[in-house]
Amino acid sequence: MSKNVIIIGGGFAGISTAQKLASTDVDITIIDKTNHHLFQPLLYQVAAAALSPGDIAMPIRAIFSKQKNVEVVLGKVTGIDNEKSTVHLENGTTHSFDYLVLAPGAQYNYFGNEDWKKHAPGLKSISDALDIRERILFSLEKAEQIDDPEKRKPYLTYVIIGGGPTGVEMAGSIAEIAKRSMMQDFRNIKPDETKIYLIEAMDGILNAFEDPLSKKGQKTLEDMGVEVLLETPVKDIKKNGVEVEGRFIETPNIVWGAGVIASPLIKELEVETDRIGRAIVKPDLSIKGHSNIFVAGDAAHVKDESGDPLPGLAPVALQQGKFLGNLIKDDLKNKVRKEFEYVDKGTMATIGRAKAVADIRGFKFSGFFAWLLWGLIHIFFLIGFRNRFRVFAEWVWHYLTFKRGVRLIAKKDEDS
Ligand SMILES: Cc1cc2nc3c(=O)[nH]c(=O)nc-3n(C[C@H](O)[C@H](O)[C@H](O)COP(=O)(O)OP(=O)(O)OC[C@H]3O[C@@H](n4cnc5c(N)ncnc54)[C@H](O)[C@@H]3O)c2cc1C
Repeated sequence: MSKNVIIIGGGFAGISTAQKLASTDVDITIIDKTNHHLFQPLLYQVAAAALSPGDIAMPIRAIFSKQKNVEVVLGKVTGIDNEKSTVHLENGTTHSFDYLVLAPGAQYNYFGNEDWKKHAPGLKSISDALDIRERILFSLEKAEQIDDPEKRKPYLTYVIIGGGPTGVEMAGSIAEIAKRSMMQDFRNIKPDETKIYLIEAMDGILNAFEDPLSKKGQKTLEDMGVEVLLETPVKDIKKNGVEVEGRFIETPNIVWGAGVIASPLIKELEVETDRIGRAIVKPDLSIKGHSNIFVAGDAAHVKDESGDPLPGLAPVALQQGKFLGNLIKDDLKNKVRKEFEYVDKGTMATIGRAKAVADIRGFKFSGFFAWLLWGLIHIFFLIGFRNRFRVFAEWVWHYLTFKRGVRLIAKKDEDS
């Protein structure tokens, strides 16, 4: 009888595991609480009204429509029983497994200040991106209707918290929207009225990059009109603004990107975790005491050859997913298990139109060529020809015309 493989999470790790098992005699069930695989690295472009949600998301069913050994279940997993080899869904159903690949990703960490979440959404899902997009568009509309420049100031102020790649990408995009691409459509607002703050508690941004790239990234943002506040921990976030040491920045436009924590589902495994809740796994990505249960992607703590944990990045999740697909195939042939080894092909971050930084195997560069490479790689890794074509077309259009695409406000009124 074929073995049952359950994959929780249709993200980079989960999808690549299932794809690796395409021609293997196993029954695969992918369970995800959403019906789509989301290309999170381009999510900020949906928030910044450059792309549509459908450009960067693909129904999981559509990805596997031709792979007959895959069944897709829409549902939220709420429990895992290691001993009985079962997973339990919120809707009361139970599924048994021979192998379990747990890849539920991560979520934003508000460091115990959960009430900040409603004023400073993080960017993790399509609905987060649409929420942020509507806040930005609504704020611009509001500012347009206020005659007193002092009173409209908060609506033209944007605060992004966290100087990692997501915060930097978001700040750069907002600078482009609010200082350039949309300004021709507004009559009363002037580009220099817009204030964009990127707040970081540490002494530099883009800390995954070594100097000079981290400094170069900061300088590029500053040239675009973003004020970078370093060594500035956030003290409080309210509906009308952000409090930092010695000042209150009044704005309803706050985006959180200051740290992540693993999916709470990891707690169900009752294994040792690190300080951000990731499961500490063995070199073959299985958990202690259960050689048929694996954790991959953002939810797994795996060390690199120098003993540091691997970062939460798409290539890490993709490579781990492929590794697990091969491992299950080898297991079925009674072959000895291998250990996971990450191949680091480089790190990149984009800052804005024709601006990016890249560190490819020690070769550090920035500017137009870094941006071009970033764009080509992202298009290559998007799932589906249609999405690749549409994103490419949108980018070319935006590059040539400076115009943003999707600028619709779907909410009925400010409070809805
Ligand atoms: C805004 C943003 C920008 C990023 N930019 C980059 C970048 O430029 N480069 C880069 O390499 N990485 C980037 N990343 C990180 C990268 O996206 C992640 O490392 C990667 O998505 C991790 O893959 P994963 O498979 O572990 O989890 P995910 O891709 O997060 O997938 C997890 C899946 O599990 C599902 N799930 C979660 N809990 C449950 C549950 N209880 N029941 C059922 N399903 C569940 C979710 O719905 C989701 O589909 C970015 C992330 C974000 C949020």
